[in-house]
Amino acid sequence: MDKSKKYKQARERMVEQQMRARGIRDERVLQVMLSVPRHLFVAPDMRYAAYNDAPLPIGHHQTISQPYIVALMTELLELKGDECVLEVGTGSGYQAAVLANIARKVYTVERIHDLVVEARQVISELGLDNVEVLEVDGTLGLPEHAPYEVIIVTAAAPQVPEPLKEQLSDGGRLVLPVGGRMGQMLERWRRNGDDFDCERIAPVAFVPLVGDHGWESSESRSTW
Ligand code: SAH
Repeated sequence: MDKSKKYKQARERMVEQQMRARGIRDERVLQVMLSVPRHLFVAPDMRYAAYNDAPLPIGHHQTISQPYIVALMTELLELKGDECVLEVGTGSGYQAAVLANIARKVYTVERIHDLVVEARQVISELGLDNVEVLEVDGTLGLPEHAPYEVIIVTAAAPQVPEPLKEQLSDGGRLVLPVGGRMGQMLERWRRNGDDFDCERIAPVAFVPLVGDHGWESSESRSTW
């Protein structure tokens, strides 16, 4: 069997077993998980495991999230198609590619230079021209393009960074893991004027968010 057919079948299995069976219902999310080639976002010697039910290393002590977590966080954002999205923590660029297939515009920010370069490369090879990958500290948000209808943070925050709340539109959703370095609660925040409601969704484990409104980098290096 040729490789692209093999990967397509792996994606179909992933969506049935890891997503539909666990309650992901948003058809837009399921469709995009079927179409984005996750194997292109990991190193060639990791591709065999790209559709496994697990996170994978992407170098620099960072990981691409488990496919189910990507689907769950995307569903929680309630995207309809016309949103401007900020993602903090580009990593491999996979989550950004998933978002770009549903939203109007995606700004994704990353602090590690090599990951920025690699993510830009894959995203451009896939022809996703509505994504911009920027090398900045995402705990400060990205004020120049604010406000955002949707903000997603794919690294673990000790608390919700204030700039991200400020840069959220009225009615907007902010999805992020909040807690300690070893384990966090996935939370969805919703803005209503000056009020913010928080729903606690599920326990998760992400790599740390490092920056002015996150963890200090020396602390995270010693643990991770
Ligand atoms: N969404 C990614 C996985 C992210 S892993 C994917 O689909 O592959 C978390 C990423 O957040 C890491 O690459 C890490 O370097 C990055 N990160 C941590 N703190 C950050 C910060 N303050 N600003 C931007 N990126 C940050």
